[in-house]
Amino acid sequence: MGEKSMGQVRIGALEAGGTKMVCAVGLADGTILEQESMPTDVPEKVIPKLAEWFSSHDVDALGIGAFGPTGVNPRSPKYGYVLETPKSGWRGFDFLGSMTSRLGVPTGYDTDVNVACLGEATYGCARGLDVVVYLTIGTGIGAGVMIDGHLLHGMLHPEAGHILLGRRPADPGHSVCPYHEDCFEGLAAGPSIERRWGKPAVELADRPEVWELESDYIAQALSTYVLCYSPQRIILGGGVMKQMQLLDLVRSKVTADLAGYISAPELEDMDTYIVPNSLHERQGIMGCVELGRRALAGE
Ligand SMILES: [Zn+2]
Repeated sequence: MGEKSMGQVRIGALEAGGTKMVCAVGLADGTILEQESMPTDVPEKVIPKLAEWFSSHDVDALGIGAFGPTGVNPRSPKYGYVLETPKSGWRGFDFLGSMTSRLGVPTGYDTDVNVACLGEATYGCARGLDVVVYLTIGTGIGAGVMIDGHLLHGMLHPEAGHILLGRRPADPGHSVCPYHEDCFEGLAAGPSIERRWGKPAVELADRPEVWELESDYIAQALSTYVLCYSPQRIILGGGVMKQMQLLDLVRSKVTADLAGYISAPELEDMDTYIVPNSLHERQGIMGCVELGRRALAGE
């Protein structure tokens, strides 16, 4: 990076979603200098546009947060590839390679939920913490997991949105997951709420039974994350979590589900343990900035 100090480098950030690509240029402190979105077209069309945008903005590094599942293990031959997806042209596509071959700058690559977790852990409500779970509940459900300051990968990456839950006896299910009858995403993602109650979640705000059931499922999942990952804080985002009545229900049900088995100072104040995201929907793009910074610094 020549004579530039880390404070001066221009870091490209690409939040690659199923419907839109958010491109930004930021500084290492998380300041976003410029941002623009374009539709997620087929790779042959959108990749040249993305490369052109970042090269015209003179970036020194790039961080990509991609929709999953995708290869995030640098030692895997499928690193940077999009894996199973119904999105036309993207299945098996070498996303990372197609960007680095055009831009030639150090590039970090991870999932969209992992970068959201990284954004909150670097610039937001989980700053200074080492073990953090970021959960998004919207059209799908996904979790980003940070362990000891590093985003968790393993053989692939966590798919904690598909853990199996105990379905409430009175709930017929209406799973929207094509793979599982009773997984978290199948039972509690936005489309499942709509299928079960006949209306989209936003139109059900005044139906307490909807949020009673929804908070049951979210609390079951969070209790499992507490037991498996031992997070210091859990952050909730996504369209469904805009129903603010959910948060308190979830907090009290997690306490009930854990049933006093674990005692830790963090669990004594659920209002600071289970929190909404804090970066005004910029957690993903800011996480991409930090990912790019880490790639540049060789971290
Ligand atoms: Zn599933």
